[in-house]
Amino acid sequence: MRRGGEWFRDLGVKNSGGTKLFSVSGHVEKPGNFEVPMGMPFKELLEMAGGVWKGRKLKAVIPGGSSVPVVPAETMLEANMDYDGLSEIGSAIGAGSVIVMDETTCMVSVLERLTYFYHEESCGQCTPCREGTGWLYRIVKRINNGTGTLEDLDTLLDVANRIEGHTICALGDAAAWPVQSFLKHYRHEFEAKIPALNPPD
Ligand code: SF4
Repeated sequence: MRRGGEWFRDLGVKNSGGTKLFSVSGHVEKPGNFEVPMGMPFKELLEMAGGVWKGRKLKAVIPGGSSVPVVPAETMLEANMDYDGLSEIGSAIGAGSVIVMDETTCMVSVLERLTYFYHEESCGQCTPCREGTGWLYRIVKRINNGTGTLEDLDTLLDVANRIEGHTICALGDAAAWPVQSFLKHYRHEFEAKIPALNPPD
């Protein structure tokens, strides 16, 4: 307050002035809240949180809270933590809740947990969210259980696309974006759990 708005803005970068609180959780040695200048490279933020735990490699990051698209490690390690930087890599700064996942993470299990959350949180006012979030959860769950079909992958995307942009509040989009991005980047992990694609030797 003493130094004024311009001083604060100049701590950050163009279009993303000042500082931001990032809440780093997941597979890091020192999870916590970090107030850093906007535009800080993700690599530096990860170091502040002690790096990926147990000496493991980074697999993926959800940089803005569970509702924003997931980003593979190689892209995330080159990204900067500001509005433009995360938009350029197809994700968003969201609430600044950074979820770090190490190389052992099963992305199908992560998506099952996320879809369960949005299904539980849907207030039920609008049909695409009320019905669609249940469909998303049930389909991901059966894929994870090893009883999914190849058609389930198309149905998942179809349901997510029908929710996105067709609901009263942002929870609908928030439920759809993880599904779309997990399938975009980690479709092979979903396919690996579908019996028809993996017949026994
Ligand atoms: S999108 Fe929002 S308003 Fe609509 S059912 Fe979901 S939580 Fe309720």
